[in-house]
Amino acid sequence: MSEILLDSQAFFHNLTLISQHLKTHSTSTRLALVLKDNAYGHGLREIATLARDFGVQDVFVKTHCEAKIVQSLFGSITILYGIPQEPLAPNMAIAINNKEILESLCPGQRVELKVNTGMNRNGISPDEVEEYITLIAQKGLELFGVFSHNGYGDEVGEDFALGCENFHTLKDKVASICAGLGIALPRFHMLNSSGTLRATHIDDDLVRVGIAAYGYLECDIDLEIATQLKPVASLWADRISRKILPKGAKIGYGGKSVLAQESVVSTYDVGYGDGLYRVNEHKNLHTADGQRILPRTSMDCFSCASDMPRICVFDNASLVAREFDTISYEVLTRLSPFIKRTIV
Ligand SMILES: *Cc1c(COP(=O)(O)O)cnc(C)c1O
Repeated sequence: MSEILLDSQAFFHNLTLISQHLKTHSTSTRLALVLKDNAYGHGLREIATLARDFGVQDVFVKTHCEAKIVQSLFGSITILYGIPQEPLAPNMAIAINNKEILESLCPGQRVELKVNTGMNRNGISPDEVEEYITLIAQKGLELFGVFSHNGYGDEVGEDFALGCENFHTLKDKVASICAGLGIALPRFHMLNSSGTLRATHIDDDLVRVGIAAYGYLECDIDLEIATQLKPVASLWADRISRKILPKGAKIGYGGKSVLAQESVVSTYDVGYGDGLYRVNEHKNLHTADGQRILPRTSMDCFSCASDMPRICVFDNASLVAREFDTISYEVLTRLSPFIKRTIV
């Protein structure tokens, strides 16, 4: 059956590269790993285990359900979305984007306050920070972190620096609010992969690295370090059937592929139901060894003029992303969680 191979050496290489960057460009900023969405489609359990082995202590997940899966592996696990239906384990924190979440929590639980510093997506307004922190203190919750998200890490221009400045101002404000309330200073973090790797001076407690750990960067700025990242996941498909078909034979739904000469044609067990984009007659996608994936692909399989028993569908999600006018993130996170993951 189809399989996703996870190259542990590539993963450790990426984490090492990012850690070295942090050593050079920050005082003591820790690398926290983003494990949301099934670890960007790679497999939550597998990537979490590797990350723990590397020494990662702090992670970010999307849901409480994901947090429970990795509960025993990390010192801190932050849940980015949702309202937990049961009390959080002591090493878990929940991101606060609104008052409803705050109201739902019982005393003692850890929260990380999300503040909007210019992306205008999630997070409370900087004007509301004092009100929220006061409420958090009154409710006996632990203000574990205050964070933001810089939505301009990939872009050329001034917005990235502006977001950083806004966060800096916010940190000072939070420090004085906390001092006023007599509560401990929370941890601060804002930067994602591109923000981390383009920054020349970082003074936050953490960076939240996702895509770079998996071997990619979708950044418009040419960064030398981006070229050194190594893709972790490769998708493999196994042969279902093999045929020798004559010149002119039509293949698949609608017969959109027509053989120019007699060929060996095999089918392989990956289709759009497994999360690979559907390849129609307007798309041109090739396997890692350069064989065209013949349109139209099916839900569970594709055809290829190949005689190989097993084929690497892709080992670089960027190439697939380019053909489908999207980004590596989307190609990876679409991969079905039902495909077997194997660490190599
Ligand atoms: C997804 C996400 C990240 C990681 O972003 P990358 O670009 O993959 O490094 C960081 N912070 C938050 C809040 C996120 O949702």
